[in-house]
Amino acid sequence: MREPLFESKDHKVVFFEELTPASAVQSNQVLIIHKDEGMLLDPGGHKVFSKLLSKISLYIPPDRIKYIFLSHQDPDIVASINGWLMTTKAQAYISKLWMRFLPHFGLDSQLEGRIKPIYDNGTVITLGEDCKIYILPAHFLHSEGNFQVYDPCSKILFSGDLGASLGQDYFFVEDFDKHIKYMEGFHRRYMVSNKVLRFWANMVRQLDIEMIVPQHGAIFKGKDMVNRFIEWVENLEVGVDLLTQDFYRVPQG
Ligand code: FE
Repeated sequence: MREPLFESKDHKVVFFEELTPASAVQSNQVLIIHKDEGMLLDPGGHKVFSKLLSKISLYIPPDRIKYIFLSHQDPDIVASINGWLMTTKAQAYISKLWMRFLPHFGLDSQLEGRIKPIYDNGTVITLGEDCKIYILPAHFLHSEGNFQVYDPCSKILFSGDLGASLGQDYFFVEDFDKHIKYMEGFHRRYMVSNKVLRFWANMVRQLDIEMIVPQHGAIFKGKDMVNRFIEWVENLEVGVDLLTQDFYRVPQG
């Protein structure tokens, strides 16, 4: 079993990267525990559900999961939400833009009351009496209603799809320049615009970040690596920045 990403007397951050089946896009899941309460980030789809449930049970009884955070509406984030609400007493937080889409993933109507909307400017929630967890706006990175989590107790930013990498065979980025090739294609297509990335960079520079943990791929550890990533995306042209009329032509039959 992998070491926790962070561990102190009252606070623990556990990271699961190995639960996705081979044909599915690799996804990371995270469990934050403060005192005797847990928060699960982007728990994922059906194929991950039972494996993740048994793994987290090694750290905390599932009925002590207080919050489930859903960064956006994609299936690798929310597809198993019905199962999670059945097996825990948690409240699940998702952008108000996506709340009414969840029943399409099989959410029972009796459980709908435990889905809580996150309004556009984000919020702060309390875990285990005194750890304030920041839900940061990250709209259009990539989803229209998109949030990230900053945990000041571990100084980790959970960045969702931003910072995602695919295809590398390591869990901590050692050489940023060599890592770019695993991130670049994804960011150029899935992120919306450089304008948004600059707003995001301005926001997160106000935070004391020791680690950035994306929802896919490798982790940026240490302030130097964190700053390298922020600088890189801040200067990256993505999404609509790169579009031309060539993308929008009627296909020839
Ligand atoms: Fe996504």
